[in-house]
Amino acid sequence: MASNTADGIAPFLLYLVTSLAMSFVVGAFLLRIQLRLRRALDRSHRKQRQLSASARIDSLTGLINRAAFMRALDRALDAWRNGGPPVAVLLIDLDHFKTVKDTHGHAAGDDVLIETARRLSGFQEANTTVARLGGDEFALLLEDDQGGIPRRVGRRLLDTLAAPIPIPNGFARVGATIGLAVSEDRAVTSQELLHAADVALYDGKRHSRGSLRAYEAGMDEAQRDRSMLEGDLRRAMTAGEIVPYYQPLIELHGDRLIGFEVLARWQHPVRGIIPPTSFIQMAEESGRIGEMFYTLLGRACEDARNWPTDLRLSVNISPTQFAEPLMASRILSILDKAGFPPARLELEITESTLVDEVSSAREILNTLRNAGISVALDDFGTGYSSLRHLSDLPVDRLKIDRGFVASAQRNGEDWRIIRAIVQLAGTFNLATTAEGIEAPEILSTLRDMGCDIGQGYLFGRPISAEQTSLWLQQRPALRAMAS
Ligand code: C2E
Ligand code: CA
Ligand code: CA
Repeated sequence: MASNTADGIAPFLLYLVTSLAMSFVVGAFLLRIQLRLRRALDRSHRKQRQLSASARIDSLTGLINRAAFMRALDRALDAWRNGGPPVAVLLIDLDHFKTVKDTHGHAAGDDVLIETARRLSGFQEANTTVARLGGDEFALLLEDDQGGIPRRVGRRLLDTLAAPIPIPNGFARVGATIGLAVSEDRAVTSQELLHAADVALYDGKRHSRGSLRAYEAGMDEAQRDRSMLEGDLRRAMTAGEIVPYYQPLIELHGDRLIGFEVLARWQHPVRGIIPPTSFIQMAEESGRIGEMFYTLLGRACEDARNWPTDLRLSVNISPTQFAEPLMASRILSILDKAGFPPARLELEITESTLVDEVSSAREILNTLRNAGISVALDDFGTGYSSLRHLSDLPVDRLKIDRGFVASAQRNGEDWRIIRAIVQLAGTFNLATTAEGIEAPEILSTLRDMGCDIGQGYLFGRPISAEQTSLWLQQRPALRAMAS
């Protein structure tokens, strides 16, 4: 009986132990799965957090990126529409970043970007948001309720970024240009405000690197216009639409016509006559100025064939052309082909030529002068102060900038600068030309001061070759007009 009972308990115990063991194994298994699941979930959360941070943060500098900046800009604009402070965007572009990267390598470039970000982050005025938009472009968003803060911050930024930045083998000076746009129109979108800052920045890059430029109405159209013209310039040059116009040069003692300044004009089939101020810089930047110059010189020599043989031509040469080593020989060969004596040609160069390319300029000018061509320093007094170059460089004449003549014209008293330039020219044995003469009394004062040659609307505006030929036939009238 007892054994019967024991016989009954044993399988029960076995069942119990087995069940317990099984449920333990199952439990442990479930627990492991649960743990695994939890870890996987944690990992996925972490990844999600990292992903959303990397969608906002620029990993090199730690600043927020473009997408996050645009969201911050949207929020700031919303707040402004609901009575909050006006919103300003300062768009910052480093000036010499590419040079630093090209000469010192990628790592130095990264150092520059990281240090720039650190310096920008130091600006915590007027609720500032700083971002790296990409490459070497940064942006600052300011919510300014006092007015004037963005400009002040912009100027301080320029100073801060102009300071040298340590890189592995020394220091880099990159500097920056800044475009500024402020919310004025309630309907402005974040994209439009950033675009306005970009337009201002581009304008600054073109006209004055290292400065702060605020967006102004019309800048946008000017830029659109420009890029349209840019695309058109190559076609225009091939089509022969860039032509020389001629403005008379008058010897002031004797009222004698001695020649013409050659001034480029673009005869555009749709837009009409486009002045050189709208395309010369473009031609320089696109590397086409040399080609344009040679074509103009060739055409001018051709036109001059029909004119009295004592008349001279003055042509403008761009500073960038001095980078071309063959310039002198190309000029001489054009003159030779056209049978135009070098002694009848004058080159007008600007002071910036002397500063940028002084040694090659000297060599080229010497070659040309030895061949008989003379050299005038154009816009004298407006550029870099290069008085030293007057004794160094082969120059025959100073052209007194039109701005000085205009201010003497406006404010009859102020002749001091013109008098000083004429005296300076005398000291260096140089002749002088005054441009921009519009009134007879200005002419007589310039003549009394001893200025040699005059040019200006009083004698005649720049006109086409055909008009010039006609004008030359009526030359007797000139004397009466000029005195
Ligand atoms: P610039 O060499 O100083 O030429 C004189 C400018 O003053 C010309 O402007 C001329 O039309 C203008 N001018 C002359 N007399 C008067 C006057 O009495 N009153 C006023 N208000 N203006 C007067 P333009 O033809 O528009 O040329 C502007 C500038 O474009 C030139 O200034 C020159 O720097 C540049 N340029 C013109 N043609 C060429 C060229 O073929 N090559 C290069 N590199 N530059 C050129
Ligand atoms: Ca000139
Ligand atoms: Ca000039």
